[in-house]
Amino acid sequence: MTATRFTPAACPRLIVKVGSALLVAPEGTVRRDWLAGVVADLAARIAAGQQIVVVSSGAIALGARRLGLERGGRASLEDAQAAAATGQIALSQCWAELLGQHGLTAAQMLVTLDDLEDRRRYLNASATLHRLLGLGVVPVVNENDSVATAEIRFGDNDRLAARIGQAAGAQGVVLLSDIDGLYTANPGRDPHAAFVPEVTRINARIRAMADGGSASGMGSGGMVSKIEAARIATSAGAHLAIISGKRGHPLAAFDADERGTVFVAEKGASARKAWLAGRLTSRGRITVDAGAAKALGQGRSLLSAGATAVEGKFARGDVVDIADTDGHVIARGLAEYDASEAALIAGRRSDALADILGYAPRAALVHRDHMVLL
Ligand code: GLU
Repeated sequence: MTATRFTPAACPRLIVKVGSALLVAPEGTVRRDWLAGVVADLAARIAAGQQIVVVSSGAIALGARRLGLERGGRASLEDAQAAAATGQIALSQCWAELLGQHGLTAAQMLVTLDDLEDRRRYLNASATLHRLLGLGVVPVVNENDSVATAEIRFGDNDRLAARIGQAAGAQGVVLLSDIDGLYTANPGRDPHAAFVPEVTRINARIRAMADGGSASGMGSGGMVSKIEAARIATSAGAHLAIISGKRGHPLAAFDADERGTVFVAEKGASARKAWLAGRLTSRGRITVDAGAAKALGQGRSLLSAGATAVEGKFARGDVVDIADTDGHVIARGLAEYDASEAALIAGRRSDALADILGYAPRAALVHRDHMVLL
């Protein structure tokens, strides 16, 4: 155990995500006894002064059963939307009832990807979360799957939970999963797969350990989206733990034996930069040469001279990816120029810009204050 070890009980504000495969039995009914154990753990923590936001999956799985839809309601987008609309009512009712047994009030929040990608709407959702927690109620969040189309979906509640953690200003995110953490390879297929208790830096080696796909076939997460969630949470300054929800009272069990993978929070993340790093969509891409890539790594702004290509349609202030010559996205930031101006000045030195643009140029193509390294 290191000094940075994540103790969920010590976080003033905590996000707990419950996956579909844990919440819904294979025959499509809620695993009420198990869920009652989780809620008892949550209630004990809330009684001790902790603020908790629940991110709950399960709407699609529950609705599919009620509507008799095949493939767990995931055969088509329309099926998933109908299943979610039907299942969400049952899901909320279940949480409200179980929390109510402990004298707690549940509040439902359904959000789409766009609600959290647009800065103004993000701040709005964030204000709602803060108010609910201040009022002592338990927000129960899910994606608004009945209206979210393929392009504007999170699609998995792992990343949603991380983004909600950021919006709520949480210090920790716990993903209750059907697996007890990250392994160096898929333990179902590779007998040499080793358990990874702690990750301090999410790099290509860590990403390669995930193999995609949900083991249960019920949720849509899998390890890839969990690692992406960890990236979002840790860059927002929150720890994230993947722990097994397969045992009863999983949060209490983790407190006792610390079995799980902890992704350690980054230090000193500013809220605005964290929001940028957590975004899942961008409007364009600027490719940079090796010299510029190195300068960005040292914390400098991106100047026009270092840009080699500009793609996409973006306006000034839009989010763009910054990629190296191998096509790896190394940073993300707000463009100081629109796409056509950026293309005009790419590769040109700063002292030539006034003539090209016909006005006094800005200090950079992407300023370091509005940029995060990935
Ligand atoms: N939002 C989906 C549901 O409630 C679950 C997404 C996921 O599997 O992570 O059914």
